[in-house]
Amino acid sequence: MSYQETHRRSLEQPAEFWSGLAEELHWYRRWDHVLDDSNAPFFRWFVGGETNMCYNAVDRHALGSKRGQAALIWESPEAEQSRTLTYHELYREVNKLAAVLKYNGVERGDRVIIYMPMVPEAIFGMLACARIGAIHSVVFGGFSISSLASRITDAEPTMILTADAGLRKGSPVQLKPIVDEALDLAETDSVKHVLVYNRDIINCQMQEGRDLDWYEEIEQHGQQYVEPERMKSTDPLYILYTSGTTGKPKGVVRDTGGYMVALHASMSQVYNVGDGDVYWSTSDIGWVVGHSYIVYAPLLKGVPTVAYEGRPDHPDPGIWWRIIEKYGVTCVFTAPTALRALRKFPEHWMKNADISSMRRIFSAGEPLDAPTYEWATEVLQVPVIDHYWQTESGWSMLANSVGIEDLPIKGGSPTFAAVGHHLEVVDIDGNPVPRGTKGLLVDYPPLPPGMLMTLWRDDERYIKSYWSHFQDKLLYLTGDYAIQDEDGYFFMLGRADEVLNVSGHRLGTREIEEVISAHPAAAEVSVIGVRDEIRGEAVLVVAVLKSHISKADEDNIANEMRQLVRDRIGAIATPHGVHFVSTLPKTRSGKIMRRVIRAVYQGDNLGDISTIEDDATVDMIREAVDAMQREL
Ligand code: ATP
Ligand code: MG
Repeated sequence: MSYQETHRRSLEQPAEFWSGLAEELHWYRRWDHVLDDSNAPFFRWFVGGETNMCYNAVDRHALGSKRGQAALIWESPEAEQSRTLTYHELYREVNKLAAVLKYNGVERGDRVIIYMPMVPEAIFGMLACARIGAIHSVVFGGFSISSLASRITDAEPTMILTADAGLRKGSPVQLKPIVDEALDLAETDSVKHVLVYNRDIINCQMQEGRDLDWYEEIEQHGQQYVEPERMKSTDPLYILYTSGTTGKPKGVVRDTGGYMVALHASMSQVYNVGDGDVYWSTSDIGWVVGHSYIVYAPLLKGVPTVAYEGRPDHPDPGIWWRIIEKYGVTCVFTAPTALRALRKFPEHWMKNADISSMRRIFSAGEPLDAPTYEWATEVLQVPVIDHYWQTESGWSMLANSVGIEDLPIKGGSPTFAAVGHHLEVVDIDGNPVPRGTKGLLVDYPPLPPGMLMTLWRDDERYIKSYWSHFQDKLLYLTGDYAIQDEDGYFFMLGRADEVLNVSGHRLGTREIEEVISAHPAAAEVSVIGVRDEIRGEAVLVVAVLKSHISKADEDNIANEMRQLVRDRIGAIATPHGVHFVSTLPKTRSGKIMRRVIRAVYQGDNLGDISTIEDDATVDMIREAVDAMQREL
């Protein structure tokens, strides 16, 4: 069946469409209703059904024909270690940890915060929670004391799983000491135990009675078999906070059954991955991509998944390609920020390994600009497929669903709506706009399986953030600005609240960034709108140049960039200022925080920057802005 037909069927007959896919998985009890939309916008899938995510992702294979096959491949250039676990070994490890959690009082419905580096034990932790029906909330192992404390306060966990430390370019990143301080700061005393996985990276203090040693606990209490809990399809599997690119992170709540079915289906439909494949998502379990595509989806599908502790360029920019060669990785899922980081280095790094096993690279998280897309396609010699999604969606909303139909790629476009998603570009009143007109990207109800259930203990914020933007129209607001071309391909234009208004013309930040990125010296570009008395808003460019560019060339490059914008978009969009820095302020998930640049420039309050990657980038922007203001 073609994409068009499949997609149409998923919208017209959602119950038939999704129930067929759900039947491929194990249910203790079959659902009574595929979809309950009686309490919109709270959509519930497979209502009445009972299942267990861990059983489906692990036991089903460990007790079946995949017992001896690789499930989890851990590669850590940071620790200079690697480890491969078969489905049966994974089953054993998860079971041991589940027994430890239960012994220490974690019950069904309790929350468990996982604040760990990218080690297999963190993944055992997620799966063990799923097994016993505890709700995990993974907090990226690099977040600050205050970020962790606010998530502890919000989620009220009974237990925290942590390690002594993570590693970043060979240096320790403290974890356990951060947990100690975050617990002092958190406004709850819900936490009874902290289970500490000691990697012997740093010395950490253990608090008698509260803190438990991972190995000792496994040794003493890990032998008991733990029956997977029969979870309702609509029971929450996890809480995950959004990246906080635009403001205070939202605690996205994910269900069990709908998410499981959507992820399992996506492996064949979106990624075209199945038996014989080796899947690698370069993300971190701290992000939604890591939840879905390092842990749950590949395991549900029964393919080996690579979990990676490290960066794209450490110990050198050839590391990723050597890993692909080592394991014969067939499908890679990465982010534009990583591709752009690699693009800064000479191409020979990519050519030194045999990466012929790789069939496709997928990208999500930020717009994949056309120049980076073209570069990657050419150097890697495989299709590079952009797909668009959010923490809220759990899996892709827009994609070239190559497992359904391998559609022609248009550079810079995440193609069409994924099955189950009815996406439209609308105006501020919620009316669809003609193709070729910019507008807000919305999703028509009902939301497909896998989408968020609500925000943790905050139904009101769920409705307010996503559903109350248009009068008399119930539409899910993605928060992103988009356009469809004449063939219906979607192009993302940036965040809706970052749209520039220059002399009455509405421009997405992405449109200008795309043009400037085409400059051969550009490595990373961010465009923001700043207040301007005459034009309403003026265009400010803050960019990072490629590593070999010298300071002396900067003025020329700035002028060439201005000229590019004039030529390709028009004089109205001509940047008011062009500035170069060595790194841009980003969230720890690698997204550019344009609102921080704007706030610095305008001297406004910075707002919540607890999710920023590196505080120093704010100072860097401040210096660039000062320099610019001196020049003006
Ligand atoms: P917050 O909502 O807290 O501000 P966030 O939106 O950055 O944080 P995520 O859920 O991690 O948190 O990111 C989703 C967003 O990332 C999307 O709404 C979109 O803006 C951007 N995005 C993701 N994939 C793509 C893509 N392929 N093309 C363009 N933008 C993308
Ligand atoms: Mg968001």
